[in-house]
Amino acid sequence: MYFIADFHIHSPYSRATSKDMQLENLNRWAQLKGLTIIGTGDFTHPRWFSNLQEKLEEAEDGLYRLKPEYRAIGGEEVPATCRKDTRFILSAEVSCIYSKKGRTRKVHHIIIVPSFAIAARINAALSKIGNLNADGRPILGLDSKVLLNIALDASADTLLIPAHAWTPHFSVLGSNSGFDSLEECFEELTPHVYAIETGLSSDPPMNWRLSGLDRVVLISNSDAHSPKKIAREANIFNTELSYRGIYGAIKDKDRTRFIGTIEFFPEEGKYHYDGHRECKQRMRPSDTKHNNGLCPKCGNKVTIGVMHRVDDLADRPEGVTPPGTIQYRRLIPLAEIVAEVYNVGVGSKAVENTYHRLLTTLGDELSILRDVSIEEITRVSSPLLADAIHNVREGRVSIAPGYDGEYGIIKIFDTDDKAKTREQIVLL
Ligand SMILES: [Zn+2]
Ligand SMILES: [Zn+2]
Repeated sequence: MYFIADFHIHSPYSRATSKDMQLENLNRWAQLKGLTIIGTGDFTHPRWFSNLQEKLEEAEDGLYRLKPEYRAIGGEEVPATCRKDTRFILSAEVSCIYSKKGRTRKVHHIIIVPSFAIAARINAALSKIGNLNADGRPILGLDSKVLLNIALDASADTLLIPAHAWTPHFSVLGSNSGFDSLEECFEELTPHVYAIETGLSSDPPMNWRLSGLDRVVLISNSDAHSPKKIAREANIFNTELSYRGIYGAIKDKDRTRFIGTIEFFPEEGKYHYDGHRECKQRMRPSDTKHNNGLCPKCGNKVTIGVMHRVDDLADRPEGVTPPGTIQYRRLIPLAEIVAEVYNVGVGSKAVENTYHRLLTTLGDELSILRDVSIEEITRVSSPLLADAIHNVREGRVSIAPGYDGEYGIIKIFDTDDKAKTREQIVLL
């Protein structure tokens, strides 16, 4: 079966996460977006864990669905064009903070498990190390390798996947508190790591520059903290709809079963370039090197972004496609495209109305962005919006890259186009 999965999201028990990240909303938004599978996030949190146990029932081996009484909540708000049977998979994220080889390491990992019993075993082991109540994404004084051991002890079928593997502050390869290779982090257990999450600020071609990553699958997830952001990155499978199916496709890095990923334009991510946010200094890696890693305005150290870090660790030049790579596709969330076309805020009522009208006539968001013909989009919306979606599909966008925690700024039309756009909107 062909399906799309987003494994990494957060519950309301994680810091800075929307109260709307309830299972009923996730179930509804998964359908609007076009996901078949969504991670539960945060299974390590005791209250979220009991919430999951109360509201979910097993559907297939290792996959869960909302019980009918919860599925009904908000169900009528999903247009008929988007309705589908969604599934939950048990997932969590753990923040490991520890010292290794004389340096402080801060690394986030995603854990995906096939059953509540195995999740409970991991929770029991982790609760001896730190307070799982404090945050949906617990911060533990725990070596990544020990965490991997705990995960594998609970079940050999557990997946541990380094999260947003390149972000400067909290990742396995990050510039500030990461490592220079997976081996340095996991040592002899490295072969048990089958995938890394590329994160919003990097994409597959950047990761292809490291031969050390050829073995692993590059997966992509939203890391969403609010329902509208789910599926902004995701994974496409063509395999049995079951935990086994997903696990096998990843473990074997089988391109016939793990079809590919849906990606942000990496420039849109918050850490693509280097820079210093306080001083509004967005810097190309070459600028940073020129300036000895210092902010030209205040003289403090700049945050080294993902592009720079990849370049430091890469053993291949830019543009190389090693054999065995898996396909990927860059997209921009539909609401952002609509906001740019109509020149209004992404959170505005106009965007919300247009978004829902499009979904009601054309189907879920990922289908609109990827599959629906441009003619069809033109027919039910406007030639401008169709044009914008076409440009995104062709990669014709310009982006001021993100840096030091600031998202990149996307433009689909240049200034002349935009003037034309406005004229046409007036005409419409
Ligand atoms: Zn994280
Ligand atoms: Zn500065």
